[in-house]
Amino acid sequence: MRQIERSRQLYLRAQEVLVEGVNSPSRGGRFYKPHPLFIDHGRGGHIYDVDDNEYVDLMLGFSALVLGHAHPEIVEALSRAAKAGTHYAAITEIEVKVAERLCQLIPCAERVRFANSGTEATMAAIRLARGFTGRNKFIKFEGHYHGWYDDFLLNCHGRPTDALGTRKDPVLIPDSSGLTRESLANTIVVPWNDIEILLDKANQYKGQIAAIITEPVMSNIGCIPPKPGYLEALRQITRDNGILLIFDEVVTGFRYAPGGCQEYFRVVPDVATFGKAMGAGISIGAVVGKREIMDTFSWGKVLHYGTFNATHLAMEVVHTNLDVLTRNGNANIKHLHDIGNQIIAGLREIFNHRKVPAIVQGFGPMFQIYFTQKESIGDYRDYCSDVDTEKYSRFAHELIKCGVYVTVSNGLHSITCTAHTEEDVDRVLNAADDALGNM
Ligand code: PMP
Repeated sequence: MRQIERSRQLYLRAQEVLVEGVNSPSRGGRFYKPHPLFIDHGRGGHIYDVDDNEYVDLMLGFSALVLGHAHPEIVEALSRAAKAGTHYAAITEIEVKVAERLCQLIPCAERVRFANSGTEATMAAIRLARGFTGRNKFIKFEGHYHGWYDDFLLNCHGRPTDALGTRKDPVLIPDSSGLTRESLANTIVVPWNDIEILLDKANQYKGQIAAIITEPVMSNIGCIPPKPGYLEALRQITRDNGILLIFDEVVTGFRYAPGGCQEYFRVVPDVATFGKAMGAGISIGAVVGKREIMDTFSWGKVLHYGTFNATHLAMEVVHTNLDVLTRNGNANIKHLHDIGNQIIAGLREIFNHRKVPAIVQGFGPMFQIYFTQKESIGDYRDYCSDVDTEKYSRFAHELIKCGVYVTVSNGLHSITCTAHTEEDVDRVLNAADDALGNM
């Protein structure tokens, strides 16, 4: 029987000084029962809690740890950078080198601007698009999350279907209190994977829309790939209407392909945002894009500041990470796909064999399980109406008990790292079978 007593005690202590005992609500007691686990350390594809339980880690620092925990070359890069001083009030050669690498790897990247998180990158990208086009409005899709900035923070969480309004005219639902009506006034929300409604909105607001921002594979309502031709259609509509296309590759970047989903699907946006896997576990963000658009960040035009933008420390880590990911013909990126595809196929077999109505959606490095009678979940509304998220949470809690650390929120996803092995695949599949047996 697994002991988690030390986690319980630390959680009681944490609640005295941290709001809900955590620093980001999705890690807290609202989701994790009977309480969240305190992690002591991680190594490779595994983490260890303070009660000495070991888990195969399929959360990996909310998708940041593409190389797994404590990768020796990342540890070495951190230590090298720390010895030389972590940050200076000046530019460094390594910033140029990393930017050059990004411009080689990412199809739309001709210029780069670094920030410190995915949220900072998407905030900057929207301001850039407004500054470049002189238009105020932008389109975001139902269920897509781009960070916690005011303009974006709506229609991300799952809700009862009667709260959503019609597909053509979704009700704008802020995901937080403290947002002003004004900050949401220029945000247009439409369903994803639906070209007709998007075309209607583009016509209705002709000449007023600065950008369409999209996750190229949806990662914040589980895992929902684009319908065939959808990203291409987005590219066409934006081009026809003088709208900038922004790919938010904060989750997909450096994962589906070295150049992200734009390389994988061969659809090149005008601007793209990155974070998470780019930093292999340290905080980083980046906006990249076509030169004439990105140059709007010049002095006197669109302002983007930041004490910690592109620290020497962060740049050393990103540089090493890109080396590791792309060496031997991108062998490590291929490994992310292989491991993910093996887990996905194995889980499907288990659900089939046990006659559990569940699907595993996604491919390669990212996937999510939906307990549903449907054959696929195509968008946010399907998720709200046809997915048993309570059942998923019960399953995920059982899986954690069986030694696999997954998100207990159906709206997030599972993710692979380069350190996962075939033995980990077996452990995940055995645990999944046991977890279903225990339910
Ligand atoms: N965009 C996407 C697609 C995300 O999933 C996230 C975070 N989950 C963000 C942006 C925000 O990134 P960060 O948490 O680093 O601010």
